[in-house]
Amino acid sequence: MAECIFCRIAKREVEAGVIYEDDLCLAFNDLHPQAPLHALVIPKRHVVNLLEAGETEAELLGHMLLVCNKVAKEAGVAERGFRVITNSNAESGQSVDHLHFHVLGGRRMRWPPG
Ligand code: 5GP
Ligand code: ZN
Repeated sequence: MAECIFCRIAKREVEAGVIYEDDLCLAFNDLHPQAPLHALVIPKRHVVNLLEAGETEAELLGHMLLVCNKVAKEAGVAERGFRVITNSNAESGQSVDHLHFHVLGGRRMRWPPG
C-alpha cells in the first residue's frame, strides 16, 4: 500500500515548502492555497485526524496549536487575524487522512465556513 503523503513529507521524501520543523511537527505551504497564508501543521507521527486523537496526543495537540500561532506570527498576518481549521472525516472535507491544522490568513475570512 502506498504510504501516506504527509508521512512522506514529514520524512522529507516529498518536497513541500517546509516553513517550520521541530521534533514533533512540521509546517509547510498548502499545495492549493486558499489565502495569502495557507500553511498546514502536521505531527511527524501518523495520527489520522482529531477524532482519532486521544489522551496520548494531548500534549502534541497543544504543541501543534502553538506552532500554528508561531506560523501566523512569522507570516505577518497574526495581528490582522487568522484562522485554524482541522477537518475530520468525509463530510467535513478531510481529503488527507493524516492530522493537519490549516492556518489561513492575509485576507478577510467569511463565517460560517462553507
Ligand atoms: P483536507 O482537505 O484534508 O482538510 O486538507 C488537505 C490539504 O492538503 C488540502 O488543502 C490540499 O491542498 C493539501 N495537500 C494535499 N496533498 C498535498 C501535497 O502533496 N503537498 C502539499 N503541500 N499540500 C497537499
Ligand atoms: Zn501519515
